[in-house]
Amino acid sequence: MPTSTKTNRTSCTCSNAEGAAGTASNPAAAPQPIETEALIIGAGPAALYLAFQLGLQEIPCHLLDVLPAPGGQCHALYPDKPIYDLPALPVCSGRELTERLLQQLRPFNPPLHLGQLVSTLERRPDGRWHLRSDSGQEWIARLVFIAAGVGAFVPRKEALDGLERFEGRAGDPAAQVCYHAVAAEAALGRHVVVHGGEAAAVELALELAQHLALASAAERARCSVTLLHRSPRFEIEATLQAALEQALAQGRLQLVLGQPVGFVCGPAAHEATPARLQQGEAPQQVWQALQLATPGDG
Ligand SMILES: Cc1cc2nc3c(=O)[nH]c(=O)nc-3n(C[C@H](O)[C@H](O)[C@H](O)COP(=O)(O)OP(=O)(O)OC[C@H]3O[C@@H](n4cnc5c(N)ncnc54)[C@H](O)[C@@H]3O)c2cc1C
Repeated sequence: MPTSTKTNRTSCTCSNAEGAAGTASNPAAAPQPIETEALIIGAGPAALYLAFQLGLQEIPCHLLDVLPAPGGQCHALYPDKPIYDLPALPVCSGRELTERLLQQLRPFNPPLHLGQLVSTLERRPDGRWHLRSDSGQEWIARLVFIAAGVGAFVPRKEALDGLERFEGRAGDPAAQVCYHAVAAEAALGRHVVVHGGEAAAVELALELAQHLALASAAERARCSVTLLHRSPRFEIEATLQAALEQALAQGRLQLVLGQPVGFVCGPAAHEATPARLQQGEAPQQVWQALQLATPGDG
C-alpha cells in the first residue's frame, strides 16, 4: 500500500465569468477568509442569473460550486440535449444556455470558486455569514443565496479502500484518480483508465485516444487509453457506439470488462494500479492514472 502521494488535495480552481483562472487557495499556507458582500452557493443557471441581477443592483458577489465548471445540471448532465421551454429561445442546448448566461454575466465578472463543496454555514456575532468548503477555504459575507438546485454534484466514488489517497481535484496535473473529465493533454506519458459505461466515459476515452494518436511514436509507446466497464453493453447512442467500435478495431483504445475490487502500487510509491477485476483480465501494464469519468456510474 502506498505511504505517500504527490496529490495536492488543497488546490482548487478560481476563475471568473470571463474565464480568467486564478488560485483561490494557496496550498502552502492556510487560506485567508475571502470577504465579500454576497455569496451564491451553486453556479447553475439560477445562480448565474442571480449573479447577473446582483450585478445590476451593484452588489458584488462570489459564486461557489463543487463542479469543475459552471452550468449546474444543464452543463454537467445534458450539455447537448435540446431545451425547448426557455422564454424567447425556441431551442438551445444545456451548454449553449450556460455560455449565454456567462456572456450575460461578463460585465460584472464575479469570481467563480469551482471544485468547492460548501460544508458549513454559520451566523457570526457581527451578523454576517461564515462559510467553509471541504478544502478549508473560508468566506465571510453579509448575504448568502442558496441556489443549490437538486444539491451538490458529488460523484459516487470507487469503493476501493485507500484509493482516496490518489484523488486529485479537477485541474490538478498530478492527480491520479479523478472523478471529472480531464484535459486531453493529461493523457500524454500516462496509461489512462476511463471507468464507466455512459456517454461521458466513452466520449472522454475517445477524446484521449484521439489525442494520443497525434503524438509521436516514441510518446505513444509510453501511453495508452483503456476503457473499463462492467459489461460489454454501453448506454450510448448508435453514432458513439460506431466510433467506439472503430477506435477498438484500430487499436487506439483497449476495452477491459470488469469491476475493480482492489489495487496495488506501481513501481513508484504514488502509483496506484487497479490490480484485481471480478471479471475479465487486468492488462499487464502499470496504470498510472485511473480516470473515473462518470459520476454515479461504474
Ligand atoms: C436530464 C435533464 C434534462 C432536463 N431538461 C430540462 C429542460 O428541457 N427544460 C427545463 O426547463 N429544465 C430541464 N431540466 C431541469 C433543469 O436542468 C433544472 O431545473 C435546472 O438545472 C435547475 O437550475 P439550478 O441552478 O436551480 O440548479 P442546478 O442546475 O441543480 O445547479 C445547482 C448547482 O449547485 C451546486 N451545489 C449544490 N450544493 C452545493 C454545495 N453544498 N457546495 C457547492 N456547490 C453546490 C451543484 O453542484 C450545482 O452545480 C432537466 C434536468 C435534467 C437532469
